[in-house]
Amino acid sequence: MAEPGAVSAQVVAWQAVHGRNSLPWQNTQDPYLVWLSEIMLQQTQVATVQNYFARFTAQLPTVQALAEASLDEVLGLWSGLGYYSRARNLHRCAQDVVRLHGGAFPRTAEVLLTLPGIGRSTAAAISSLCFGERVAILDANVKRVVTRLLGFDGDLAKAAQEHQLWHAATELLPAAPVAAQSMARYTQGMMDLGATVCLPKKPLCLVCPVQNACVACAGGDPQRYPVRSRKPKRSSQSIWMLWAHRPDGAVWLNTRPTPGVWAGLHCFPLFQDEEELHAAVPLGWRANLQAQAAFVHVLTHKDLHLHPWRLAVDASTGFPMPGGRWVPADQWPALGLPAPVRKLLVRD
Ligand code: SF4
Repeated sequence: MAEPGAVSAQVVAWQAVHGRNSLPWQNTQDPYLVWLSEIMLQQTQVATVQNYFARFTAQLPTVQALAEASLDEVLGLWSGLGYYSRARNLHRCAQDVVRLHGGAFPRTAEVLLTLPGIGRSTAAAISSLCFGERVAILDANVKRVVTRLLGFDGDLAKAAQEHQLWHAATELLPAAPVAAQSMARYTQGMMDLGATVCLPKKPLCLVCPVQNACVACAGGDPQRYPVRSRKPKRSSQSIWMLWAHRPDGAVWLNTRPTPGVWAGLHCFPLFQDEEELHAAVPLGWRANLQAQAAFVHVLTHKDLHLHPWRLAVDASTGFPMPGGRWVPADQWPALGLPAPVRKLLVRD
């Protein structure tokens, strides 16, 4: 059985020597940088986030700059990272930090949690890493560490079991009072353990600092944790896209409505089926429509089967498609575009 005090001390000591200390959002108490990295790292790999993080912070270096930016600019910087509700919430959250908190992030998880897009674990990560608050985080990586360490086999698809795990994670925290620096190191250490040692498929128990206390390791089958019975249901949707372009490289884009797929992004006009797409194109131009290879774009809970159709349009004629505009070739790369649309345009 894990001894909370001993475990947290082992994690803190291990993090100082073996943890990740060189990522651009580490070794900082700037809540803007920590918050931004936490949001970007949800659903996205570290290697991908590094480039986006550098570009984002170069253009919008403070929460004030982000609050003052247009949503279009934010979506443009986010373009390709996916899960665009994160970018929209990021923008709203920055505006709330400026409007409601005078431009300074709240220092406790309880108040951070009231901001758009900040969940319980993200709130705790910001307050413990930046302000030393003694509060537990429980993102997917840390859930894996805690369930294995404690041999916690409650079904995390059930809210009551998830609640219990939060309680167990809180019990593991360094004993109060704890210095802010140790608290930050503990939080970072738990994240690092989950990301680099307690791996989903092949945990590296031999080099794990808490191996002596780990129930799952002693049982010989760490991979059976965490337990989650319900798998998210996948669905699929077919979408037809009208890729209209002019000889000067301009493309026809409209803004996707909110809510809906790719809400707020700039996109080719979309249709439910081929007939609808054909009907939207003036009769005399339909002969110019060219079907492109269909492909599948995978979202979290949905597979999108995409059917692009190209339409070459003479620059001198109008284009009677409601609700969109021609976007010049030197402008569309900076816009927030759905990843598959960008891929088609870049490859062209
Ligand atoms: Fe994970 Fe193995 Fe460490 Fe236990 S000993 S926390 S299973 S890496």
